[in-house]
Amino acid sequence: MARQRPLQCPFCDNYLRAPVEINFSTVEVTGGICTCHAIYVLDRTGHNLGDIFMDALTFVCRGDIDKALLLDPEDYESADFDYDLNSNTIGKQSRAGKVCKLVFIRLQHDEKTDG
Ligand SMILES: [Zn+2]
Repeated sequence: MARQRPLQCPFCDNYLRAPVEINFSTVEVTGGICTCHAIYVLDRTGHNLGDIFMDALTFVCRGDIDKALLLDPEDYESADFDYDLNSNTIGKQSRAGKVCKLVFIRLQHDEKTDG
């Protein structure tokens, strides 16, 4: 059973800070960036994952919507978790009340432009 644990990157196990407001010209998210170049985006409602996922894809492409739209599922890894803003923990939330979601995305071949 997944219990609550500190916010941690699912790809590299790095511990992460709580999401913050981030603005690109094209997209506005609450999230952050891991040292492995994975990004994470907060869905405050927990019911908006489709929109949040598109924002996350745009974010991982550094605001480049055109590039985000061209990504295939094989181009990135993703994961999502229940998230508690107050304690900055992920995992099953036992308390009733507001459950946020956190979406993680990492590009498979990040910035390796050889050729
Ligand atoms: Zn990471």
